Amino acid sequence: MNLRSISFRLVAWYTGLLAVLFLLLGMLLYTNLRHFLENDVRQSEARRTHQIASALLAHVETLGETNVVAQTREWFAPEMNNRFIRITRLDGSLVYRAGVPKDGSYNPAEVPVPVVHGAAEYSRKYRLAGGQLLLVQTLVYQKDLRAGYVVEFGELLDPVESMLRHLFLQLAFGLPLAVIIIAGGGYYLLRRALTPVGQITQAAETITQHNLSERLPVARTDDELAALAMSLNRMIARLDEAFQNSKRFVADASHDLRTPLTILRGELETLSEDRRLEPEVRGRIESMLEEAVHLSKIVEQLFTLSRLDAGEARTEWTKFDLAELARSTTEQMNLLAEDKGILVTCQAEQSLMVEGDRVRLKQVIVNLLDNAIKYSRAAGTVQVRVHGVNGHAELEVVDDGIGIPAEALPHVFERFYRVDQVRASSAESAGLGLSIVKSICTAHQAEVEAASSLGVGSCFRVKLPVCKSN
Ligand code: ADP
Repeated sequence: MNLRSISFRLVAWYTGLLAVLFLLLGMLLYTNLRHFLENDVRQSEARRTHQIASALLAHVETLGETNVVAQTREWFAPEMNNRFIRITRLDGSLVYRAGVPKDGSYNPAEVPVPVVHGAAEYSRKYRLAGGQLLLVQTLVYQKDLRAGYVVEFGELLDPVESMLRHLFLQLAFGLPLAVIIIAGGGYYLLRRALTPVGQITQAAETITQHNLSERLPVARTDDELAALAMSLNRMIARLDEAFQNSKRFVADASHDLRTPLTILRGELETLSEDRRLEPEVRGRIESMLEEAVHLSKIVEQLFTLSRLDAGEARTEWTKFDLAELARSTTEQMNLLAEDKGILVTCQAEQSLMVEGDRVRLKQVIVNLLDNAIKYSRAAGTVQVRVHGVNGHAELEVVDDGIGIPAEALPHVFERFYRVDQVRASSAESAGLGLSIVKSICTAHQAEVEAASSLGVGSCFRVKLPVCKSN
């Protein structure tokens, strides 16, 4: 579970809020109910103390205390109903105290005699020896200066307590369970609602300049995520169109430039050989010819790249022996290397069948060898190695030349990238050779990587899938 995901954070937030809210509501409900129930008992007790005072004690002179007691016992039957009743004179002497209840749950004698103070009416709670809670309402009744009584009426709070205990247990288990169910349900619903985000992310990761015609999946939910996917798709379509336009432009421009450049080169070649011209003029024409050759090489490379971008490599695929191709190409390139005193060797397996465009894969070897020779030092060595590794054909071109600085290495496959000005000044260098290698490899589902150490040498490695029948 990703703790930073939207679903987790949202669920964590609202579960937290809900838990706090439920806790507050539960506490409010519990305390309010306790207050309400106790108040109810208190009021009914108060009514009864008043009843004893106004109906009996108010006529004590005529009725006599014995009759008051008898009447009280008759009305309230305290022993039968678990009630506590006590009537005391103001001097503290006892007039009447109800006996032990029928169920023997407590002894009324253990309830201390109240200290009568100013208040005429108040209530107290006693924790009895058996653990029960007795709520006692006290009324100080004073008819005149001579006769005064303290009337106490009490009831056990057991039913209230047990009801509150039940409620507490229900809240303590029910509310966390409700929070867990809501959190789980919410997480599930959010995950479902956000599924298209994962699909869009996955699809977006696979879209590159080579498959800009693909689109992101649009969920049929008609919601904000569907709208986002549609608007991203419209953006990809616009990018695709712009990319196609720019590719078409490069393809058209390089194609249209080839013929005039060939004519220009031809004309310059003829002029440079014309003996009637001054040697100085011929020298200048030769330098112009050199530039024209360089220019037509760039145009030719651009044309190759635009054809590769258009998916041309797929059309000419055959099965062929990569080891044999490496050997023959090395042999051909040796002529170029010998001029510079460089030794090019080839170490290849007997035979390694691969599938692809033979001409283009030869171009990969030529470009890599061309660079290795170009950037080698005098009397350097270049090695071409071909071998099968884990179901792949590996082609390596290793040199002990000037090497590539670490910061430049990730960029060498970019178009028109050249490492530094000293190398760039070379008329043969345009910065397109390795981009062509990369494009051909991509078209062959092959990987190409470079490793190099400045001043020590470089190694370019191409990993190509081998033929099934190999
Ligand atoms: P270029 O036509 O300039 O050689 P590439 O695309 O073939 O263009 O190479 C890009 C850059 O990578 C070159 O400018 C060069 O500096 C560097 N490079 C490529 N191959 C090697 C190598 N074998 N040794 C040293 N530097 C290299």
